[in-house]
Amino acid sequence: MQETKILLSEKEIPRQWYNIMADMPNLPNPPLHPGTKKPAGPDDLKAIFPMALIEQEMTSERWIDIPDEVLDIYALWRPSPLYRAKRLEDALKTPARIYYKYEGVSPAGSHKPNTAIPQAYYNKKAGIKRIATETGAGQWGSSMALAGSLFGLDVTVYMVRVSYNQKPYRRIAMETWGANVHASPSAVTNSGRKILEANPDNPGSLGIAISEAVEDAATHDDTNYALGSVLNHVLLHQTVIGLEAKRQLELIGEYPDIVIACSGGGSNFGGISFPFIYDKIHGRDIKAIAVEPVSCPTLTKGEYRYDFGDTAGLTPLLMMYTLGHDFIPPGIHAGGLRYHGESPLVSQLYKDGLIEARAYGQLSVFEAAITFAKTEAIIPAPESSHAIRAAIDDALLCREEGKSKCILFNLSGHGYLDLAAYSDYLAGRLVDYEYPDEMIRESLAKLPVV
Ligand SMILES: *Cc1c(COP(=O)(O)O)cnc(C)c1O
Repeated sequence: MQETKILLSEKEIPRQWYNIMADMPNLPNPPLHPGTKKPAGPDDLKAIFPMALIEQEMTSERWIDIPDEVLDIYALWRPSPLYRAKRLEDALKTPARIYYKYEGVSPAGSHKPNTAIPQAYYNKKAGIKRIATETGAGQWGSSMALAGSLFGLDVTVYMVRVSYNQKPYRRIAMETWGANVHASPSAVTNSGRKILEANPDNPGSLGIAISEAVEDAATHDDTNYALGSVLNHVLLHQTVIGLEAKRQLELIGEYPDIVIACSGGGSNFGGISFPFIYDKIHGRDIKAIAVEPVSCPTLTKGEYRYDFGDTAGLTPLLMMYTLGHDFIPPGIHAGGLRYHGESPLVSQLYKDGLIEARAYGQLSVFEAAITFAKTEAIIPAPESSHAIRAAIDDALLCREEGKSKCILFNLSGHGYLDLAAYSDYLAGRLVDYEYPDEMIRESLAKLPVV
């Protein structure tokens, strides 16, 4: 019998995270203070982050120890399984060998607790009492709520209003884990009130919710802010995914030719790919592909320049591929991929040609999701299904070329709280929406000059 699932024992959870900043040929330009536009130092970040995370944000040390308290909680679901997608291969009649790492086994159903747990840990250790954060469809908010409950931290979540109204289940999960959830824009913060004055029906966006959470953290001494993607320390924490996958493949004598993950802010892509990009930097031939929606095409159509992480311009300016900080992507179902920017680390690697990017429309993504569900049994998150689409396309290319390549992708989460999206797809209610180039240009024209 061929191996279907490659498991590691609890003892084999990686003890260190991998920091790609130690090996990148070029580091991204530093973040800038939003007011002075001068490089932001540790002191500028102290109001909203604990020092341990600020250090991880800036260090060039290659390996960072994972604290025991974090390992103890990782052990609830890590190491996550690696599967050989044999039934999918058979259905595609491809000679390719397809593997996927499954992060949907975490209690919140996605990769996001990999960073929520250490972020809660370092904040607790620094004496912080409360975390303020934002969430779109709720994956990050629920991961932070979970982490807060495990470390005894209060959690306040600003949840994008459309999702708050349309997607109650993750909100209920957050509340079950004890978090306090506000629909954003809210009347709780100045940034929220200003937006509501202009338009009481504003549906909200991730950029607006980030402004509210950052303001909340900056104006309360006992409160810090936590971000679920984009920043260097977040990508660092997610490298447990790639480190485990590398070991799992090694156990069966495999090494990927292609590594694929969907990309919103870039943390799950960085998480699975960085340990392999280490090898690429050191001469190994391997392709890494970040997959995004055509309706929010940050890498494939954005520009590489400084931009704010939020709508109100409260966060430091980050050097990244961006569609403009007031870009409001259409309401596609892959809520986790609707962010205007891309992590500075992934952006720099893309700029330097070390990774590739690809964009798909949601109809072809759901088609791939259904094929996957029918062959591999798991109903995938709409976000993760972007990676499935790319893996299927590359496997079909292998069939055409008669090549047997090894393809690895990250299944970043399950879709059991996204069944309304499947219902829309099955009823023929979903449409493809490509963001018009002209509107991207308009949004980019409003970027800050530095
Ligand atoms: C949030 C989320 C993503 C996008 O994550 P990034 O790491 O920011 O790119 C992908 N898949 C799932 C299931 C998510 O919850």
